[in-house]
Amino acid sequence: MKNTTVAVTIEGLLEQLPDYYRPSDKELIKRAYYLAEEAHRPQKRASGEPYVMHCLAVASILAELQVPPAVVAAGLLHDTVEDTEITLADLQRDFGGEITNLVDGVTKLTNLPRVSRDDQQATVYDVDKTEASQNTGESDQYPKASLLGRNPDMASETLRKTFLAMDNDIRVVLIKLADRLHNMRTLGFMPDHKRKRIAKQTLEIFAPLANRMGIWQVKWELEDLSFRYTEPQQYKEIASHLASRREIREKKINQMVVQLEKILKIEGIDATVSGRPKHIYSIYRKMIGKNKPFEMVRDIRAVRVLVPGVPDCYSALGLIHTRWRPLPNEFDDYIAAPKDNHYQSLHTAVIHDDGRPLEIQIRTHDMHESAEYGIASHWRYKEGGSGQSSSYNQRIDDIRRMMEWRTDVDDATEFVESMKTDVFQDRVYVFTPNGDIIDLPAGSTPIDFAYHIHTDVGHRCRGAKVNGKLVSLSYELKTGEQVSILTTKRGGPSRDWLNANLGLVKTQRAKSKMRVWFRKQNREQNIVQGRTLLEKELQRVGVKEKTNLEKLAREMGFRNVDDLTLALGHGDLSINAIIPQLPADEEETEELLPSTKSPQSDTEATDAIKVVGLKGLLTHVAKCCNPTAGDEIVGYITRGRGASIHRSDCPNILRTQDTERLVKVSWGSLERTYPVPIEVTSFDRSGLFGDITYVLSNDGINMLDATVKTDRGIAKISLVIEVSDIEELSRLLARIENIPNVLQAQRHNPG
Ligand code: MN
Repeated sequence: MKNTTVAVTIEGLLEQLPDYYRPSDKELIKRAYYLAEEAHRPQKRASGEPYVMHCLAVASILAELQVPPAVVAAGLLHDTVEDTEITLADLQRDFGGEITNLVDGVTKLTNLPRVSRDDQQATVYDVDKTEASQNTGESDQYPKASLLGRNPDMASETLRKTFLAMDNDIRVVLIKLADRLHNMRTLGFMPDHKRKRIAKQTLEIFAPLANRMGIWQVKWELEDLSFRYTEPQQYKEIASHLASRREIREKKINQMVVQLEKILKIEGIDATVSGRPKHIYSIYRKMIGKNKPFEMVRDIRAVRVLVPGVPDCYSALGLIHTRWRPLPNEFDDYIAAPKDNHYQSLHTAVIHDDGRPLEIQIRTHDMHESAEYGIASHWRYKEGGSGQSSSYNQRIDDIRRMMEWRTDVDDATEFVESMKTDVFQDRVYVFTPNGDIIDLPAGSTPIDFAYHIHTDVGHRCRGAKVNGKLVSLSYELKTGEQVSILTTKRGGPSRDWLNANLGLVKTQRAKSKMRVWFRKQNREQNIVQGRTLLEKELQRVGVKEKTNLEKLAREMGFRNVDDLTLALGHGDLSINAIIPQLPADEEETEELLPSTKSPQSDTEATDAIKVVGLKGLLTHVAKCCNPTAGDEIVGYITRGRGASIHRSDCPNILRTQDTERLVKVSWGSLERTYPVPIEVTSFDRSGLFGDITYVLSNDGINMLDATVKTDRGIAKISLVIEVSDIEELSRLLARIENIPNVLQAQRHNPG
């Protein structure tokens, strides 16, 4: 937030309240404070401060956003119902329905049901409750140990509730964001292992949430605070680089500000120019994106130009581009094409007089308010009018539209994943044949597009053209492309579309609509379809004879085989969920494939990495670049912590001075693979074999042997491929079978 001085007393908070608050509003806020102060009196924060400091800080952040008085009051009271003796009835009596509902909304987000398990009985709280704001007063009441790590579904459930609250009352989400922001500011008082996890969740969920609501003031601070804990090393380096040149840079920027204002004034543009501090996380993102380590930081100089009207934006841009040479690929017109979160501005970068780049943002004052405060800017215009409330409703509608699928997804983990794809991700903009613009999450395919146009177009989609050329249904759409869908007269979606291995569908919206379609088919038909799907897959990976379907169904929590196949037929259960449950080959010889059932450790213990020449040295995977099997890697001998493994193109490695600390490493025995014979049957055509090897090499799969026989137009291709487990095999066979003209791809079972 701009104002980092947070109120620490009620007097300070009252000073900070927006000008439009009336005396009675201030009275209300005082009353809320005194109640919170008294109720939380026995409690302390992890920092040792009285608990009410947290309540004041949350209210202060909300006041800065200039939300209505009731929301600030609710911010003061947000933890009372959960953490103190105060009840909702008390609040109702003293503060009335609106504030009570807001507090209740925040309480419900965190207040999860009791879970009893064999070995423990505990109440699970949201991370902000269990950890960041752990009070020391009555600590026995709350579990100290985080259950979040052990039970990720509970974490997802909290998040799911938070997202659903966006739908009911966006003000509840604002209080939640303010709560998280203050907890992040005080995260340093938490033990180390908790910091990282909380920071990671903030970076993945809460910062994107603030971004989606357009509240840049909260978004950047959440990002920088999180980054500081997820990548402390990187954070420190960038921060110290920035600090070391601060004085020179600020002096220089001030000169440029004066110069720019003068130039614009001469041409009759009444502009306010200011230096724009760059945030550490955004610098880091840029460094990673452009693969340019530190010259980026050196060149970080940015200013913002605020002007009265839209025509002034373009005049200013024209003047600036005439005076200095613009850098290619750095110009974006978000006024003509606003971002999804309604952000509007012109972005450009020019080569300034000293031969180094200068980034410039140009926007109107209104656009600026809206960019800083997003959905909350609605309350900054008390007079009403000026289109602010229609923009507020538009923002809420947009969020609802992106979450259209919300009632179809019960599973909390899937819900959170869907938020990440459908709501938080960047968008691509494509055109219909009529020239209408459709926005979709990045990575969307023609099927996603078809479902977006109309459910029925989705169901009947059989092919697609992009800019007039036929593309495959797995094609990833890019901004600016024109898409037309080829449909059949009748018929429905293919069950393959729900097979995540094929990557044919990206959006939850499309998936939900398909499931509705499949559910409407009659029960018998769904059972038969599901059974066909299951048997085909068992056959395909070569375990059909070995699988006891009754047992499999029971193990997966179904009453019988029909229920299992019905779930498959509906699309509620995906074939991918079954593969890991399949019986493993007994490990008698090296040739046999392991099941993926055995729990795979996803920790970063990497004893399996073979450090050439340094056998037995402790190794760990570097967090900055997170190499995975297949990446080219290099080891770096740390002081006292063994070797860390980086990608060889990691910026940290590229710029390191201590080259003698680098050691050659390979993935060694990490990836154990098994040779598996498979057989592909296809209509023969030219390029067929090339397509198959393309699929394999794309996945980094080794091919040991290949023979092709053709008979009367049918090709039989026998391959021996190296895979690491049955899941990988299943994925590859599905992909090969999806190649045009291929009839079948199966594991070859001798005998
Ligand atoms: Mn709180």
